[in-house]
Amino acid sequence: MLEGLIPRLRVSTVYDIDLAMLKEKGIQGIITDLDNTLVGAKDPLATPQLAAWLEEVKRQKFKVVIVSNNDHTRVSRFATPLDIQFVHAARKPAQRAFHKALQLMGLTPDQTVVVGDQMLTDVLGGNRIGMFTILVQPIAIQDEGWMTRVNRRIERIVTARLRKKGLWHEEERH
Ligand SMILES: [Mg+2]
Repeated sequence: MLEGLIPRLRVSTVYDIDLAMLKEKGIQGIITDLDNTLVGAKDPLATPQLAAWLEEVKRQKFKVVIVSNNDHTRVSRFATPLDIQFVHAARKPAQRAFHKALQLMGLTPDQTVVVGDQMLTDVLGGNRIGMFTILVQPIAIQDEGWMTRVNRRIERIVTARLRKKGLWHEEERH
């Protein structure tokens, strides 16, 4: 059961994602979380570095949809200036919002990667649908809400168990 929480790949930040590797895997779309994946949970707008990265991603012909559990105000204020489609109030790990994002991109799960900072929402949801999942390190852990703090505690317990079972590799896997 814990296996569903294991990301296919772990990186420090979105900037460490090897876009060429995704292309080789036939990935054409990126479903990304917002808070603590793209910017800190309290940062309203993209940083210049993030905006440049998103431009590069689009230039390489990847489709991008933000799927966030946050509300419409937060997600639309962030995504609209970047001209990126989004699904708000996603209730991840529930599958519905992921399916909606796939529909927006016109892609199948095996053509899509999920990027996020939480195992219990982003990774679990993506794995359930059979998408390639990438876990990033949270950007600003001190700004997280109580629900996320609870999830982080569970993540630590799960990670410790997976390590014991030899299922949590310190090396990145492609
Ligand atoms: Mg997040």
